[in-house]
Amino acid sequence: MQSLTNRSRVVSKKTMNFWERIYLPAIFGGMWITIKHFFKKKATLRYPEETREFSKVYRGLHVLKRDENGAERCTACGLCAVACPAEAITMVAAERKKDEKGLYREEKYAAIYEINMLRCIFCGLCEEACPKEAIFLTDRITPSNFERENFIYGKDKLVEKIDQRIDVSGRQKHITEKK
Ligand code: SF4
Ligand code: SF4
Repeated sequence: MQSLTNRSRVVSKKTMNFWERIYLPAIFGGMWITIKHFFKKKATLRYPEETREFSKVYRGLHVLKRDENGAERCTACGLCAVACPAEAITMVAAERKKDEKGLYREEKYAAIYEINMLRCIFCGLCEEACPKEAIFLTDRITPSNFERENFIYGKDKLVEKIDQRIDVSGRQKHITEKK
């Protein structure tokens, strides 16, 4: 019969000696291998209590940035949605009213801005396409959830809080270097 690989082995039919028949050497041998691993550096972490240090260019959860005065930078131009290969971004644009100058940087803004995190592949093309430096990927992880609709992230989750600014200088530098 033609052999497809050289991995086949002929099974030995020799009768077992006394030590092989009582299995104790094999059992202790196995336990010795297990015990040795107690003293080795663990390859695993107790996530989520422990986390590894992320790469400086890690692409995680998005943030919609505000400018230095606290106004939303996004002008609802739609370039991020066009660039998105997963069609994960949807938005509805609106005109800024006179008394909303402090809220939105330009005349147009995104009244609705949503990212479907189940579709998103965290490629980062949206942040590269954005002409207003309004959207960035951060080192935050999308939390797990049992409901699909909870993965639709709207402005309530995406726009950074005024009193909790998110530092994106590392990614900004990385994107500038790429361009
Ligand atoms: S990271 Fe990529 S897939 Fe996710 S929203 Fe941005 S462009 Fe779309
Ligand atoms: S995030 Fe940037 S690219 Fe996307 S709509 Fe807003 S301004 Fe345009």
